[in-house]
Parts: sequence; C-alpha cells; structure tokens
Amino acid sequence: MRQFYLLFFLVPIMIFGQDFPAVDFISGDVSITPDTIEKSIKGSVSYAFEMSAKTDSIFIDAIDMGFQKVALNGKEVPYSNNRKQIAFQAPKSMGEHLLTLWYTSKPKQTVYFFGWDDQIKGNEQIWTQGQGKYTSHWLPSFDDMSEKIEFDFQIMAPKEYDAIANGELLEVVDKDSLNAWRFNMIKPMSSYLAAFAIGDFDKKTLKSASGVPIELYYEPKDSLKVEPTYRYMKEIFDFLEEEIEVPYPWQNYKQVPAQDFLYAGMENTTLTIFSNTYVIDSVAFVDKNYVNVNAHELAHQWFGNLVTEKSGEHHWLHEGFATYYAYLTEKELFGNDHYYWRLYDTAKTLNILSENGDGEALTNPNANSLTFYEKGAWALVMLREIAGEEAFKKGIRNYLEKFAFKNVTIADFLSEVESASGKDLTGFRKEWLEGEEFPWQSTKAYLIRHANSIKEYFELKKADGATIKKMDWYAGTTSAALKRQLILTYGLKTPVKGLESILQKEKDLKARQAVAQVIESVPQELKEVFASLLEDESYITQELALFKLWTSFPSERENFLSQTNNVMGLPNKNIRLLWLTLALVTPEIHPEKKKGYYEELNGYTAPNHHFEVRQLAFEYLNHINAMNNEALANLVEAADHHVWQFKKFSRNLLRKLMTDELFEKRLNAVYETLTKENKKILDKLNNK
Ligand SMILES: [Zn+2]
Repeated sequence: MRQFYLLFFLVPIMIFGQDFPAVDFISGDVSITPDTIEKSIKGSVSYAFEMSAKTDSIFIDAIDMGFQKVALNGKEVPYSNNRKQIAFQAPKSMGEHLLTLWYTSKPKQTVYFFGWDDQIKGNEQIWTQGQGKYTSHWLPSFDDMSEKIEFDFQIMAPKEYDAIANGELLEVVDKDSLNAWRFNMIKPMSSYLAAFAIGDFDKKTLKSASGVPIELYYEPKDSLKVEPTYRYMKEIFDFLEEEIEVPYPWQNYKQVPAQDFLYAGMENTTLTIFSNTYVIDSVAFVDKNYVNVNAHELAHQWFGNLVTEKSGEHHWLHEGFATYYAYLTEKELFGNDHYYWRLYDTAKTLNILSENGDGEALTNPNANSLTFYEKGAWALVMLREIAGEEAFKKGIRNYLEKFAFKNVTIADFLSEVESASGKDLTGFRKEWLEGEEFPWQSTKAYLIRHANSIKEYFELKKADGATIKKMDWYAGTTSAALKRQLILTYGLKTPVKGLESILQKEKDLKARQAVAQVIESVPQELKEVFASLLEDESYITQELALFKLWTSFPSERENFLSQTNNVMGLPNKNIRLLWLTLALVTPEIHPEKKKGYYEELNGYTAPNHHFEVRQLAFEYLNHINAMNNEALANLVEAADHHVWQFKKFSRNLLRKLMTDELFEKRLNAVYETLTKENKKILDKLNNK
C-alpha cells in the first residue's frame, strides 16, 4: 500500500519534470512580411508539436504582439495574450498536432529598419538580432534555449531587395508587389538563432573543401572591398572543419554585413550577420580586418548552434570556445608569433582586472564579456595543455557528436575530456572555471615555454638602462611582435638615431606604426622621415603622422594637410574627420573652402552615416566647438539610438552641452525643428 502511494506521486513529477516535457515543438513554418513604413511585422507561424503527457496549457513567448487568429489542427481556438506570452488549452489527445498563429508586431528591439526614411537610394536594410534581444519580439517562439526547432522561413520583400534567412534558399516566388523568398532548414536550432536580413546585396559564392556552399554578401557599392573583407574565408572554413574534426553541421553558410549592427557579429545558424565596419579596403586590412570575427562566428556554428548551453552558467561553452577557435585560426594564418603575443596581450589585461579584484569565475552567468571570451579562450588553451593534444581533440569530437542538436552543461563537456584523457580535471575546473583570480603565473610560464620571443621579452625586461640605450634589444630580434612590443616599451627611452633607423629601414609596417605611436612630439631631425609615414600603407599610421606633424611643426601645416587631402581612411573615416577638423582650425588653409569643410564635418553626424563615423564627428566638432544646429538635432536623434554605447555617448554629450547657456539657447531654437519622438528625448533629458 505504501509503495503504491509513493508511485502515485512520482509519476506526475516525472512527467512534468524538466527532463520530460509534456510538449515538444518539432518544426516551425514561418512567413514574415515587414512593413517598411510602419516598421512592423505581419507574420504567421505553424508549429508542429508532439504531446507525450497530459498538460493544461501551452505557452509560447510573444512580446507585445497582437494576434488575429490562433488555430489548432485547422480549427480556430481561444487563447490568452498577456503581451509576454500567448497561451492556449492543450489538446487532450497525445501525438502530433499543428498550431498556427497569425500575428502582428512592432518590435522595439530585435528587428532593425535602416535607411527607409531618408532620400538616399539603395541603403535600405532590415535585419534581426536575436541573442540577448529575444526573437519573441518578431516571432512567437521560445526564449528558452532548450526548445530546439527545425524552422523554415518565407520572407516577403519588396522586389528591388534581396532577402536572406536561415537555411537553403529553395525558390523566389513573385507575389504581386513583393517577392516571397523561401528557405529550408533540415536540422533544429534554438529560437535565438533564427534570423533574416533584407537589403540591396550582391554576393560572391564559393565552396569549402568539403563541398559546403558559402555565400558572401555585400552592397553593390562595395564590390572592390569584397576580397579584403572576406580574405581567407575558404582557409578559415577548411581549417575549422579540419581542426574540430566534426563536419560543419548545416546545409550552407552565409554572411551579410549590416549597417549600424549592435555587435561585431552574430552567429545565427547558417547566417552570420556582421557589422559593416568590417567592410574594408586592402590598406585597412592591416589595422582592422574581419578575420578574427569571421572565424569566431563560424566556430559558433558548432559551439553554440550545434551544441547549445542549457543556461547562462554554461556560457563558456559558447564564447570561450568561439574565441579560442578564432585564435587557433589566426595561428594557422598568421603564425605562432602572432598567436602567442595575442594570448600574452589578453593574459596581461585579464591579470590587471584580476589584481584589481575584478576577476570573475567563468561559471558566473553574469560575468562580463572579457571573462567569457578571453579568460574562456585561455581556459581552453590550458585544458589542451593538461589533457594533451590528442585527448583534447578526441574529447571535443565526442562531445560534439554525443550532444549534437542538444543542450549541454560544462560538466557534459569536461566528462568527455576526462574520458578521452583519462585525467581527473577537478583541479582544472576549480582553478580555471570556478576561480575568480586569473592564473597569471601559469599562463606566463606557458607562454615562455612555447614562444621564444616572449621568453626573450621577459629576459630583456630585466636589462639595465644602458643596454636599452644601445638598442641591442632591437637588433637582436627577428620576431615582429617582439619588435613592436619593445618599441612600445622602450621607444621613449631610446636615442632619436635609433628611432630614425627603425623608420628608415624597418620593413614591418607595424614597427613603424609603433614608433609613430610612442613619439609625442616629433623632433626636428625626424621631421623628414616621419613625414614619409603620411604615405605609409596603414590608415592608423597616416592618422598618427598627420596629427603629430601638424602639432609639432605649425609653420608647415598646410603642406602636411595638402598631402592627405581626400583620404577617407578606415570605415570610421578616421583620416577625413581629423583632416577636416585640422583644416578648420588652421587659418591659412583655403579660407574660401572653410564653409565647405564646416558643412562636411557637421554632415557626418547625420543618421545616414554609420554610428562610428557620427560619434567621431561629434567628438571633433565638440572639441573645436563647431557644431551647427543640424548636428545638434542629429545629436538629439542619436540619444535614442539602438546601439547602446552610441546612445550613452550622445546622451552624455547632450547633458554636458545643456549645462552651457549658449547651447541651451540653441537647443531651444532647434527644438521646433525636431520630430515628435526627438522632442520627447530632449524633454526627458531636460526632466520636463
Ligand atoms: Zn561569440
């Protein structure tokens, strides 16, 4: 009798417990029609789900959505909508069911419309960002990462644009004024990885060694930047497949650059969306290229998309792994020296953080990104060292195969490496995953063991001032990374002759750049050779040279400026914006053109420019006190930007300007020209 009683209570616990969900969603057929005027979404989704136990209600995450109709197995059913979730009564019978939802939403986040309000043709884009922003803002779906679904998308887009979504494009069907782009996925994924992008794009197509189709999108105006932007794409893809030893898990791979994207990149399944500030020319490649982000997002297709964390405590399994494999890719492409010095830089940063008492455990779900990414990558570097190369790779392989299309914990991963290596990893777990301190001594020892140039560096640091003056430190090394490091460390203590010879003879562009960086004021005897940096093949070097020459030799400003006129520089227009600023404050430069410079610099604050360009323009304009009323209005608009760093910058600057009586008056004058939304922003900042 007693046993029976116990059983009676155990059964429902097992059914409703986390491991045995009563309802499993299997596939989702989605159709999305964006409204580019209202910036809203009209959509429908049909979910096939399986009932394996009785339950009362079924819930789907749906934030601020309106529903027109909900049907279960073809029949309209009642539902409740609390603006966070929609709920309906679960069917009584077990087995497979079909649920269809028709809805509209005006997403406050997760879907971003760009360029639809301006007069510029061809810059219109719509793109999504699900992770951290919740896909349930545009698609009734599942914020819980454990619900994996095989999604198929239909994206309705105006005829002049392309649409891209997860999976393989099956067909584009003419539907009156729109095109229906139909995509098919074969395998399931978490909702946060669902994505689409719409815009005017061309694409370049290639195939990996294993035959996976890779599509690289770009805006038609950027056709000359395709090669430097996506440089080494095939090498990256082939390297990761070979290194991970598990085939790429999806049908294809696509990458789309997006304007004003929130992050560097996002690894939506088969569809990485990345910031178009990585769309670069060949000169920019040396200072800012997409290689690391490209490899990072691709690595997520295994680590995050194929095996997905159960919850935030296991976030290391996503970011630490993607960062680590991106470093390994860089090692493959740029060599050991590059790799170990990259690791040295991050170890140094992490160590400072840790010494300040701000170290964090990798198992802390609220750790900052430096911990998840860089400490996370370091943990894998050390784990590979502890487990041994072969066992580490076997552990990775077994882990990916065993948990493919499932959800995982850190313990799941560690136990695979433990079985593969036969080693107890308790110590590793305690020190690297649960410990808050950064194990600096063991990372330093690791680097000295593996990289001769780092060993040399630590030895040189013990050298006396006389040795440094003789510049023996420079002559003796062949490592490019060590040379840069030494210039940055000892450059200021070095005789001018030594720096001059680096500028004249050094083949490595980054060594010359390091000299341009450390010199504060250019000495007369370096003037000529320093001026040659204005034509160096690096936009950062050019910018440094222009500014330092302009400051050091006032009588020759016109000459330096005329040498760099019309150079735009990096995607944030670093050189052009500096040039305009300097030209505006150099009286003898083309007085007749000043008005044009003034308008051009103010013009870069407009919303059609990338937020990085806008921010730099605001900084310079504020610095030389040259903001016109149009720029002021643009600053108010920027104070509500979807990229939070830019929004914060703009709010801070506005607040600062408001304390100035003159600006207060000008803001009042601008007020009437603002849109209703922008008036609200200003009122809010004014506490009105
Ligand atoms: Zn990542």
